[in-house]
Amino acid sequence: MNQEHIRNFCIIAHIDHGKSTLADRLLELTGTVEKRQMKNQVLDRMELERERGITIKLAPVRMKYRTAINSSPLSVHDTFTVHDDPSPMENGKQKTEIEYELNLIDTPGHVDFSYEVSRSLEAVEGAILVVDASQGIQAQTLANVYLALAADLKIIPVLNKIDLPAADVERVRAEVISLLGCGQEDVLLVSAKTGQGVDKLLDRIVSEVPAPRGKAESAARALIFDSYYDDYRGVILYTRVVDGKINKNDTIKMLAAGSDGVALELGSLSPDMLPAAGLKAGEIGYIVTNLKTTRSGRVGDTVTTSDKSVEPLPGYKNVQPFVYAGFFPESNENYQALKDAVERLAMSDSSLRYSPESSPVLGFGFRLGFLGMLHMDIVRERLEREYDLELIVTNPSTDYQVVLTSGETLDIKSAAELPDVSNIQQILEPWVKGEVVAPVDYVGAVLHLIVGARGVQKHIGYVDARLAVIDFEAPLANLLTDFYDQLKSITSGYGSFNYELADYRAEDLVKLDFYVAGDRVDALSVMVHRSEAERIARSAVGKLKEVIPRQQFKVALQVAIGGKFIAREDISAYRKDVTTGLYGGDVSRKKKVLAKQKKGKERMKRFGKVDIPAEAFAVLLKRD
Ligand code: GDP
Ligand code: MG
Repeated sequence: MNQEHIRNFCIIAHIDHGKSTLADRLLELTGTVEKRQMKNQVLDRMELERERGITIKLAPVRMKYRTAINSSPLSVHDTFTVHDDPSPMENGKQKTEIEYELNLIDTPGHVDFSYEVSRSLEAVEGAILVVDASQGIQAQTLANVYLALAADLKIIPVLNKIDLPAADVERVRAEVISLLGCGQEDVLLVSAKTGQGVDKLLDRIVSEVPAPRGKAESAARALIFDSYYDDYRGVILYTRVVDGKINKNDTIKMLAAGSDGVALELGSLSPDMLPAAGLKAGEIGYIVTNLKTTRSGRVGDTVTTSDKSVEPLPGYKNVQPFVYAGFFPESNENYQALKDAVERLAMSDSSLRYSPESSPVLGFGFRLGFLGMLHMDIVRERLEREYDLELIVTNPSTDYQVVLTSGETLDIKSAAELPDVSNIQQILEPWVKGEVVAPVDYVGAVLHLIVGARGVQKHIGYVDARLAVIDFEAPLANLLTDFYDQLKSITSGYGSFNYELADYRAEDLVKLDFYVAGDRVDALSVMVHRSEAERIARSAVGKLKEVIPRQQFKVALQVAIGGKFIAREDISAYRKDVTTGLYGGDVSRKKKVLAKQKKGKERMKRFGKVDIPAEAFAVLLKRD
């Protein structure tokens, strides 16, 4: 298609504000997906996405849209060059319908995927900014707006969910106007659920989103904004062709990865794969390749077909994970199965890192690296579900840079790797720059929360008189466990936050060692700040006491720093008869309880004489 008739755009929003549902309506209105085949959030194709109602993988889709409405600067020109069926006379003037190709990218709303989102924004010219009219602007809304502005996109603001009784159109529209500096009439009011207002959005896209302006005759340059591994077809790249064209069977080169391969098939997604002869400047589509792993075709890389040197598209980053956890098979026989599964998943997910790890109590497993807690959660669920593995996962941690007295620096990814303290000069931990968005009434409580997480408040700004934006810096480790839950609870659900990695800072960090019945359990060790050591140690032994069942002897749970004990709880002796207290003859209930206990037993790790259940190894994630 002629670039003048292409509109590339993405939908951005805070999680749950209705991106995927709005995409459904657009697909329906343009007849891309037939009504009878329509299901909710049709672009969320993974089982996990559908179950949780979240978008994990971004999804590009191509739609055709015929319209006579044309207020773009190109419209006069269009009507003369395009020979489409003339539509009936209107106001005495002949109007010509034009078919547009609309390429939409539905992006995941979560901070863990912000790099992918930033690349998707580079692949388009416009962004539909969806704001839930019953919620208002949230942290991820702001983060997305910054990204969209940085990518120089035309932003079309949309208030969604206006059908809800709780929708506060006046207030939220005022927020959006003051955020974007746009006029009242620029903010579209829609309901993605009922479809109200969505037809107007299509016309706004056509008239306001600029057409791509690639150099059709130049050497091919295409931006990879997502890639995944398909069991049957191999590595598939989602790409925006910026300049030139790529045809079937062309040799392709990935500039940052330095890899090459063959474009076995190209085409668009509608939303199923629709093969074409090739992809041209301005178009968005897929390339099926013969690459073996997504590491050879990473998000942000530039694809070319030219032998000559080609300037890479800007913005490529080799994203590094900064959250790590040990993943162990529940029984040692399944180590190979875990290894295969992790390797396979990593072929598809180029930001997932792994290295072997072994522990005296948990045996052989892997240390996996993630982009954040949601990413970790998703990988864990996929391993358990798609590969049918029972896993023991340890407390998540960040990585640490350890400067030795010798001057050498180590990057450690678990507390157990910490060298002897006498050899350590200093330890650095990752810090983030964060931003909390919350109604002004909650600012005091939010500042308190930030300081409690060892954070430092930077600047307080205001979207308008009602809504505050609090910039802060904090150690990443303290945001991993329950910061988000606490933020939600102290702001009655209105607060939200977003962050990005800032730098590594030297802090007074210590390793907490856990002892169960006198023996140290390596897999439980964690790094904490000295000022928090006692509080965390006490809370952790308290939680461990709840999850480790009673044994036939008394079990001491202790925490030490460098051999000095700082917290202790004892689990008193005797085999707990879980059915006492269930009086009467309710046999089925008794059976159920016993079965549950048996199930728990299956996931116990024997350590010395003590059985430690799987959940004990991630005890820091347990709510108080
Ligand atoms: P996303 O996370 O931004 O992709 O949001 P989804 O499209 O998954 O929607 C989140 C939730 O809001 C779902 O339960 C939708 O059914 C609901 N939702 C989306 N749009 C509307 C709307 O216009 N009205 C109402 N009442 N609910 C909506
Ligand atoms: Mg979604």
